[in-house]
This record gives sequence, structure tokens and C-alpha cells, in this order.
Amino acid sequence: MNKPVIINTTPVPMLDLKAQHEPIKEEIKTALKKILDSGRFILGDNVTSFEEEVASYHGVGHAVALGSGTDALYLSLRALDITQGDEVITTPFTFIATAEAITYVGAIPVFADIDRRTMNISPSEIEKKITNRTKAIIVVHLFGQPADMDEIMGIARRHGLKVIEDTAQAFGARYRGKPIGAMGDAGCFSFYPSKNLGAYGDGGMMITPSAGICERVKILRNHGTVGPYQHDFIGYNSRLDEIQAAILRIKLARIDTYNSRRREVAARYTSLLAGAVECPRELDDRTHVYHQYTILTPQRAAVEMALKHNAISCVVYYPLPLHLQRAFDYLGYREGDFPLSESAASEVLSLPIYPEMDLDKAEMISQIILNALG
Ligand SMILES: *Cc1c(COP(=O)(O)O)cnc(C)c1O
Repeated sequence: MNKPVIINTTPVPMLDLKAQHEPIKEEIKTALKKILDSGRFILGDNVTSFEEEVASYHGVGHAVALGSGTDALYLSLRALDITQGDEVITTPFTFIATAEAITYVGAIPVFADIDRRTMNISPSEIEKKITNRTKAIIVVHLFGQPADMDEIMGIARRHGLKVIEDTAQAFGARYRGKPIGAMGDAGCFSFYPSKNLGAYGDGGMMITPSAGICERVKILRNHGTVGPYQHDFIGYNSRLDEIQAAILRIKLARIDTYNSRRREVAARYTSLLAGAVECPRELDDRTHVYHQYTILTPQRAAVEMALKHNAISCVVYYPLPLHLQRAFDYLGYREGDFPLSESAASEVLSLPIYPEMDLDKAEMISQIILNALG
């Protein structure tokens, strides 16, 4: 490997939450003051309004604000009656929370390989994994790229399976004009600070077209409470607080602008890097929101080294697919079981991207990558 050419010394982070806070800080201060003066911190007006606003953004009947994205997945599985011994098909190329939630209800994660074009679960691989114990599919819209929803919903209908959308990385993405998260039985969002709609702490939400599922998750998030100190089943504690809800409402009003800025940065990267590395695909029928801008290259080590020497952050999301994680040893998978997930894991590299990022930075970073590959 050649010694990297240095053209930059000012650090570039993966994202810049301080820059996002700056233009909204007065609005946030005002909202927080109101909450602090009101003394109402849990399940108040901000949570109710935020639920209505997210439901309406997605054109879906119901939304329930929760403590995290992981809780949204777990409580959706519970509300859909997925239980001990049931099989749930999902991708091995995702953040571990997706599969962890399946284990929380005693169900078995069954992995199906990805499509390299989208890095999302492949519909034909899902079909191969269906057995008479399969109850549901958890689709992940990884990095902000919508999965093949029409095909997946078709498979689910034919086999009588539930569909949960893990939308933790893709708030506002669209598939054939429809907002993702609103096509399955439940859509699960995370508002972890680094997500494309991020709170100032933990938070999550489930959206659903079903009044029944909404009702069940609302009861589950509050200890199975159906009336004052009356508990019909064992619930959980997973409530978004008023402070996070108020902050998220302020950011929700700007989410489309944030996403379109991400798309501009992504377009600049792609215009400069296409040909040298495999860039994320912008498919005709969907709107990618670039929670991450993730390239694929067999020369990843050289690119990482060059970026590091130039003070540019970059991260490998994800270096080890879930079927090879020690936590899932008990499932009995082996190396070679999911070749496309494995090769993606060895070639992916996520570059800095955030709404406030200058296009100049994308150009400079692209130049460093081109130099490294030159
Ligand atoms: C972040 C994330 C989650 C979990 O969300 P938390 O709010 O951190 O619990 C689940 N799935 C995916 C794909 C994620 O990126």
C-alpha cells in the first residue's frame, strides 16, 4: 500500500449533532421550559401530539410512542402474538437489535440472505426459509434504502405471515410513492440520537394500520394496564417522555428537509465515486434517505487508511453478520451460509453524511478515496 496523500487536516465527523441543534435551539428551549413548568413528564400532550403527527405523516391510522426502537420491535412481536418456538425470518446483515427482539418473545430468528443491490433481505431467499412454524418476517430498510416491499408483502399474504418493518434507519423513505413503515402490520422507528430523526436521548415508535395492534401496544407499554391498577396481562415499561416528544416534534417538522439535504450529499458522492467503488443504488421506484452513505469496495483497507490519515471519520456497518455473532451460536449457522451478507460485511464502508454537511466536504472525501484507489 502506498502512503496516503494528505489533502485535509480538519476532522470530519460521521455526523454533527451540534450543527443540527444550533438553528432549532431557541425553539427547543421554549418547548422545554413549558414542560419543566408544567410538571407533566410522562404520557402528556407532547407524546399524544407527536403520535398523531407521525401517524399523519405516514398516512396510517395509529402510532404509539415508546422507549426505544428495540422496544418497538419487541412490543410489535408481542402484540402480533409471536411466541415461544415461532420462527421469524429476517436479514443477518443488520444491527443486532432486529434479531434480539425476536428472541425476547422466545421465537427463533431465521436468517435469509440479502440482495447486494439494496443490501436488504432478498424476497426469493425469504421464500426458501418458510416452514410451517414461520409466523412473521422482519424487513429492515437498511441505511435508509427501502426493501422490496411489494414482493415481500405478496409472499406474506400467500403464506399468512405478519410483516414488521424495522424502519429505525429510514424515517421518511418512500417505496413506489408510499412511506415505508406503513405497509406492513407494524412499522418500528428508533429515535436514538444518531438516527435520521434523532431525539436527545432514547426513543422509539410503532405505527400500524390496525386499531387492535395499537391498543395492545399502548397497554403493553404501560405494564398491561387496562384500568386503574387493573392488569389483564404482563406488560412492560416503555414510555417516551414529554421532553423527547417535544424535541422530536420540532425535528419532525424539518425531517423532509434533513432527508433531502442527505440526498444532495449522497448524489455528490455518487457522481464522483461511481466506477471507482460500488455506490449505494438509487432505484427508480424508491427514495433512499441515506441514514448512511455506504460504499462497497474490495480495497476497503486502503480507503480506510487514507481517510484516517486525512482526519475523515468512517465506520464499517457491520463487520460481522448476525449469523456469525457468538450470541447466535446456538442457532447453528456457519460461515458460508449467507455469502452475500458475508461479502458485504467485508467490503462495506460508511462515509460521513448529515444534513448540515457541505458539498465541498463530499468532494474532498471523494478525492481522498480516488487518490487511495489510484
Ligand atoms: C438503531 C436500530 C435499532 C434499535 O433502536 P434503539 O432505539 O437503539 O433500540 C433497531 N434496528 C436497526 C436496524 C437499528 O439501526
